[in-house]
Amino acid sequence: MTCRELTTFIADYLSGDVPPDTRREFERHLEVCPTCVTYLRGYEDTIKLGRRAFAEDDAPVPDTVPEALVEAVLNARARSH
Ligand SMILES: [Zn+2]
Repeated sequence: MTCRELTTFIADYLSGDVPPDTRREFERHLEVCPTCVTYLRGYEDTIKLGRRAFAEDDAPVPDTVPEALVEAVLNARARSH
């Protein structure tokens, strides 16, 4: 599995929605590729940030959140190159 392939599987991997062989290849790649580990962490952080922002329906979404999300994604992408 290449770094590019890994990034296309990342959402499915985190939702547990990948076949066992793909998951194994994914994890094997993570063992040898710190860049993708960093990318995966950034991706997870982004999801957590998003969940936290929308956890309370009545709470207004702070203006800073979308920008932080975009930045997290961009940073993660920049690190993966
Ligand atoms: Zn990689």
